[in-house]
Amino acid sequence: MLPKKVLVTEVGTRDGLQSEPRFVPTADKIALVDALTRAGIRRIEVSSFVSPRAVPQMADAAQVMAGIERPPGLVAACLVPNANGARRAAEAKVDEMVAFVSATESHNRANVNRTIDESLAGFAEVAAIARDHAVRVHGAIAVAFGCPFEGDVPFAQVVAIVGRLHALGVRELTLGDTTGMATPPIATGLCKAIQDAHPDMHVTLHFHNTRGVGLANVMAGLQAGIDSYESSLGGLGGCPFAPGATGNVCTEDLVYLLHEMGIETGVDLAKLVAAAKRVEALVGHPVPGQVMKAGPRLRRYPMDAVRKAVG
Ligand code: MG
Repeated sequence: MLPKKVLVTEVGTRDGLQSEPRFVPTADKIALVDALTRAGIRRIEVSSFVSPRAVPQMADAAQVMAGIERPPGLVAACLVPNANGARRAAEAKVDEMVAFVSATESHNRANVNRTIDESLAGFAEVAAIARDHAVRVHGAIAVAFGCPFEGDVPFAQVVAIVGRLHALGVRELTLGDTTGMATPPIATGLCKAIQDAHPDMHVTLHFHNTRGVGLANVMAGLQAGIDSYESSLGGLGGCPFAPGATGNVCTEDLVYLLHEMGIETGVDLAKLVAAAKRVEALVGHPVPGQVMKAGPRLRRYPMDAVRKAVG
């Protein structure tokens, strides 16, 4: 039994753009978010309240938040790494703060130079600030499906962190496949382990297509009953350990798959593809999205316009 309806979260303007070397102007970021909103996306990770010195691309988080359309029903989420980021995010009136920790000590150390315990203590501070401002908190666990330093991550290790987030009041959680190490059996196994231990935790899956199995992992998630996925327009973003490798699962490819499976998303695929086609000019290089290039499945061509090909 697959879910009848799925929430598609766009992370391109944060997870995608943060690794782009060219600074995307604030007005272009705002236009991109608005195009996604108008296409029917209802949760967007708009930006990140990290240190502008650490991630210059995200230095305009407050201006982007102030400039975007905020229709009712849109969840404008932002990543917050610590209490300082949470205070800035609250001031910018985000709907949701996304706070993160890695599934392994090595990755957490490499990512934020803290132990997991230290990150979870910071998480508690973020949650308190969010509560004071009546803002939702969404947890995220990086390298949940595999770690570039430690390899396979035991499910029990992830479940233990989920338990600690649960104890902090978190009920919305993203499992991040940060470097694209998930496979369908790993996705199935981890989802089941978390559902068994914490049935009231609402899980969102964030896959990368680094090794070409991003949408296969989504299928495994759907079969496990997961009804929430994160992706990026045009497949924006990369893998920090594999230069040139594909990053996030592509939003319009994901929406195409879901619609073809008879699953509702509330998203207008044509509008999404139109927005995706503007992404390459924005970042100055090709992006890996496939439906944006091939068009819908039932696209018709005039017969004389097709070059003859054999094989
Ligand atoms: Mg990602």
